[in-house]
Order: sequence, then structure tokens, then C-alpha cells
Amino acid sequence: MSATPAGYRGRFAPSPTGRLHAGSLVAALASWLDARAHGGAWLVRIEDVDRPRCVPGADHAILAQLAACGLSADEPPWWQSQREAAYAAALQRLVEAGWAYPCACTRQDIEAAWAARGVPRERHRGRPYPGTCRPEHGGLRGRAPRAWRLHAGRVIRALGLPVPLVWHDRRLGTQAQDVEAAVGDFVLRRADGLWAYQLAVVVDDAAQGITDVVRGEDLADNTPRQIVLQRALGLPTPRYLHTPLVCGDHGEKLSKQNGAQPLELRDAHAALDALAAAAAVLGLPGPAATRDASLHGWIAAWRQRWAAR
Ligand code: GLU
Repeated sequence: MSATPAGYRGRFAPSPTGRLHAGSLVAALASWLDARAHGGAWLVRIEDVDRPRCVPGADHAILAQLAACGLSADEPPWWQSQREAAYAAALQRLVEAGWAYPCACTRQDIEAAWAARGVPRERHRGRPYPGTCRPEHGGLRGRAPRAWRLHAGRVIRALGLPVPLVWHDRRLGTQAQDVEAAVGDFVLRRADGLWAYQLAVVVDDAAQGITDVVRGEDLADNTPRQIVLQRALGLPTPRYLHTPLVCGDHGEKLSKQNGAQPLELRDAHAALDALAAAAAVLGLPGPAATRDASLHGWIAAWRQRWAAR
């Protein structure tokens, strides 16, 4: 059991690649309930760094959906597209520490590097970056920089981080990942110039003073990377709770990519139905007569189940 942090601050951080669907509402509701159950603040951050994937207007549509569900934020939303200077400053600090380096490799270069090491083609995928452009291997050797990567092994050794990195999730319990072996030198700034999710989320969680991250379980395996980055940047690590995923008819995770339908919250009934479905996924009791009475009851149920965890 970990103590409730003083001055709880939570957030919901949707990517505006479409409106909320049944799966994303679960994360929104859970993070809101956790903040309310702790008497804390709840923030909304629009994670629009991956601009090609963003759908125009989806940000405001999401904010309207949250409002229709009674999930009120305590501060004005942030847009990550307005935070580029903070990401650039963070990358600069990592570069100066010798913990981030430019990489010239294309996907084909990475495959070729694995092939040269005798790793069969079908086993290249999902492998960490082979380290071709690491400074100790000669760096760019005259090639043009594309992406920027974290020198994960250097950070882990310099800071004496445990291998594997062990972290605690309030729902999933103790988790562990060997970050260097599993993901290696991950990207901080992409070849197309866009900021990587890992860097943006870590910088903004700290800048917003987030004490508690509550989000979908599909993001759980990003957490060790984020903890390494937090340590590299001297930022605090929030507590984490990853919520159950909503599955489609064939057991697959419901997501925009596999055609999850946006929630149509035309009236109070529709909003209550959507909330009740999300609450059921979270193991909360059935709804009350109205939306606000239901939210009230779920805060109490959530507090009982999660506040001390
Ligand atoms: N923007 C991410 C997403 O919508 C969530 C980030 C997070 O909660 O850390 O999948």
C-alpha cells in the first residue's frame, strides 16, 4: 500500500485522432473518479503531437463529450502542440548530458544492421534499435541526422537504475521490464520532426505536477520507458494505475484503429448509458437515476476500492 500523495493531481490525456469511444471513456472516467475520490484536481491534456494522425475538430469534440458526461476539469486544457519549446529544452538537456544522440538510420538500415548480425529477417521486427549511430560507434559518420534517440543503456548505468526496472501499478501490482533489452534506444524526436509521445508525456506530466497517472492498460508497457526518462531529466515519477481495456466482439482491444465507434452522446440518457458501460468495465455498481447521482455513487465506490491502493 502506498500513501495518498499530498496535493493529488490527475489527468486524462487523449490523442485527438477521433472522438471518444467506449474504451477511451473508461480511462477518462477512471482518472476523473480517482481524482475526485482523492479530493484532488483533474486535468485534461490534448495530446496532439502526432499531427498527421490528428483529426481536425476532434479535440473540441472530445471536450464536449467529457462535458456531456459530467467529467469536469479543474483547469483549462493544455494542447501539446503548444508545448514544443519545453520538449526541445528537455531534449537539449539530454543531449548535453550525453544521453541522447542523433540517428541517421532508416528502417531499412536497421533491418540491414540486424541481418549483418545474423538475425533472421522475420525476427527483426520489434527488436530494439541496434545502436548503429551511438556516439561510441562513431555517431552519424557524415550521414544526415533523422531521429533523436535516448541512449537508454548509458542512462540506466549512469543513474544506477535497476535491471530489470521494477515499478508498481496500483491495479496490476509489481511490474518489471529490462528497458535496454526490450525497447533499447527509443525515439525522442521522430525523423519527421514530430516529438515522440514518450518525451512529451513525461515533460508535461511533470510540468502539470501530475501525481497520479490513470490510463488504459495498453499503455502499461510504456511506463518503464517513461520512468527512465523521468530519472534522466530529474523529474518525479507519478503513481500509476492502468485500467482494464474494453474488448471488441473478437476479444481484440477496442480502438479507433480497429473501428471502434465514437460515442454519440445526444442526450442525458445516452451519456448515462455510456458512463454506466464504462463503470461496469471498472467493476463499479450500476447507475443511479441521474448522471450526477451515478457519478456521486461511483466516487464513493471508487474511494472504497482504490483510495488506499
Ligand atoms: N495520448 C495517449 C492516448 O490517447 C495517452 C497518454 C497517456 O495517458 O499517457 O493513447
